[in-house]
Amino acid sequence: MNQEFFHEGDLVSVQTAQPIDRMLDYKAPEGGCHLGAFVEVPLGPRKVLGVVWGAGKGDFDYKKVRSVIRVLDVAPMADEMRQFLIKAADYTLTPMNAMLRLATRAPGLGDAPSMRKVYRLGTDEPTRMTDARAKVLGVLRDYGGLAFTLKEIAESAGVTTSVVKGLVKLGAVSEEDAPRDVPYPRLDPDRGGKELTSDQAVGAKILSEAVRSGTYGTTLLKGVTGSGKTEVYLEAVAECLRQGRQALVLLPEIALTAEFLTRVEARFGCKPAEWHSGVTMTERRRCWRMVGQGDAQLIVGARSALFLPFRDLGLVVVDEEHDTSYKQEDGVLYNARDMTVLRASLNAAQVVLASATPSLESWANVEAGKYARVTLASRYGAAVLPKMSAIDMRIEDLPGGRWVSPSLQKMVEARLERGEQSLLFLNRRGYAPVTICRACGHQIGCDDCDATMVEHRFLKRLMCHQCGETKPMPTVCPSCEAVDRLAPVGPGVERMAEEAQALFPDARVAVLSSDLYGSARALKEHIQSIARGEADVIVGTQLVAKGHNFPKLTLVGVIDADLGLQGSDLRAAERTFQLMRQVAGRAGRAEIAGEAVLQTFQPEHPVIRAILGGDEEAFWTAEAAERRAAGVPPYGRMAGIVLSSPNVQEVFDLGTQMARMDGPLRKIGAQVYGPAPAPIARIRGRHRVRLLVKAEKSAPLQQALVAWAAQFKLRGELRMAIDIDPQSFY
Ligand code: ADP
Ligand code: ZN
Repeated sequence: MNQEFFHEGDLVSVQTAQPIDRMLDYKAPEGGCHLGAFVEVPLGPRKVLGVVWGAGKGDFDYKKVRSVIRVLDVAPMADEMRQFLIKAADYTLTPMNAMLRLATRAPGLGDAPSMRKVYRLGTDEPTRMTDARAKVLGVLRDYGGLAFTLKEIAESAGVTTSVVKGLVKLGAVSEEDAPRDVPYPRLDPDRGGKELTSDQAVGAKILSEAVRSGTYGTTLLKGVTGSGKTEVYLEAVAECLRQGRQALVLLPEIALTAEFLTRVEARFGCKPAEWHSGVTMTERRRCWRMVGQGDAQLIVGARSALFLPFRDLGLVVVDEEHDTSYKQEDGVLYNARDMTVLRASLNAAQVVLASATPSLESWANVEAGKYARVTLASRYGAAVLPKMSAIDMRIEDLPGGRWVSPSLQKMVEARLERGEQSLLFLNRRGYAPVTICRACGHQIGCDDCDATMVEHRFLKRLMCHQCGETKPMPTVCPSCEAVDRLAPVGPGVERMAEEAQALFPDARVAVLSSDLYGSARALKEHIQSIARGEADVIVGTQLVAKGHNFPKLTLVGVIDADLGLQGSDLRAAERTFQLMRQVAGRAGRAEIAGEAVLQTFQPEHPVIRAILGGDEEAFWTAEAAERRAAGVPPYGRMAGIVLSSPNVQEVFDLGTQMARMDGPLRKIGAQVYGPAPAPIARIRGRHRVRLLVKAEKSAPLQQALVAWAAQFKLRGELRMAIDIDPQSFY
């Protein structure tokens, strides 16, 4: 709780989420307000949300200062949270108002608590008893005086909601209004723990002791897929709950939450609170408020859950910590893994970074002694790691327009005979990445971006993967007007599925790609049906690399292992290595041994050899040496600057000027590279130019960047985005 209190009429400084570059003074309202209070204040003709950030500056005529309209009925922001937002804003060079927007992303925070109808046992007996009616009354009687929603009763009684409503008319069930934002059910840390293997028990003990210490610390929990990392970190969560503190588990993909929720329920007796884009507005609001008042003990969420107003955060688990989706690539450019460490250090909380294939950043922090490390060496139970090998595509006899080599085909056929599943992995959505006119050679591109349009046959449209623009699949070439001469070039998962169906006519082929399902729920159901064995051949994108359990899967065929090795990204080797190992980890999770094969045209490439050899430490050591020599992350610091404008000349002029006036950067020994056209030189009609700044690890990079950027005025349509620790270079 914040101590500082402002009495009515005292000047307070209020930070709003509006795009203005300073805080404004207001008078504290009738009844006063606490430091950190969420308030509504007048801003010109509008009423906006803000947070009391401190005492007012008093640099304005007191008589003209307006009053806070009201204090919202939510818990005030904790001091640690304010410190966190300030530090995160400084680190990512984000204006404070944008940070606050991230921290208040719940709808209707200022509204009075909304109500909903709940039902409990009434006083009268129904005049005519039916089976369905008896079931409803039975459920209500079993739980004594508790009230439930219509849906809850209908579901647990196995009847339609109209049965319940009928009973309300008869007075046998009573209806009342109850607030929607109710606390989450209490989790029981001592309920359904599994018996751990000795490896796991050692790991769980180390993590639990760290949580009990009540201090900050970060531990890398490394273990192959299926080694029980989740079981182990759930023990740390249990300890955190016993300490009466809140725990947060971050997952990289919403589609993973369903399986995780089920496991939490089995372990602790109830489901935790959820926070991600698939959660309804009312549930988001409830989650935000309950987290703030300490009535949600465990939250499972996407990266933005880190900005929830925790009362007393004791533990954050970042699962699949190497995953690139932890980096937010638009708006506020932050890396949730790194911000987790910052937040935990301000809260005396523990961080667990879990992965089978940790990022080089985390690996280097362990080497440097900043993070502790717990390793689970083997898979749980009978499951063994898959056998890995390469298929040398240079010697395979494969006609054009086909991608499954004869060797891979035979392996899949063997699985089909034994009733096991195979996965054909291709990290490319859609039907074909390029559509070309066979008459004139024209490739269909996006009107607003420098990118080819990807055919999505399932949607019968062409789509730009940069800006999301779609158009109907044309029959006439837009360049030479030849009719019916457009042809797909290269494979996407939809085309792979077509090939798989042709090669294995009796097999049930399923496609797993994030864009093929209308909703997160539909995707979840599809994944579950595959896990039950309702498909023989799965064709999937990187979605399948992320921790799903497919017990019958015994073969993974990587269609194009070379795909990720191209490109100028400094992390290309690391990414390919992680992705391939994750995908291979899908095979043989249960009792049957799995096999993983990589189709490649360069089997002697060091990354391919490291993957096949399975010598991870050797791969990391070699990769670390290369990055250290080049002075790039994690051994040096980088910032990416993207300038954009509809006017090409304007962006290049500014870029050139910035490269020339690099005094503030040179002062800290940093170098500027560029300007150069960004790899995607135009997005949504805006031309893009990149500069890259490199500095030594210890250099005060942010300060220098601020001083540097302050020299330039952004006129008209010019925009500048600064990305600290850039992950992608597009
Ligand atoms: P990871 O998170 O490392 O991929 P999981 O925790 O998901 O591994 O474990 C893989 C599977 O093995 C899960 O189905 C899990 O329930 C099971 N498992 C792991 N450890 C144990 C254990 N000690 N007792 C029973 N089942 C376990
Ligand atoms: Zn586009």
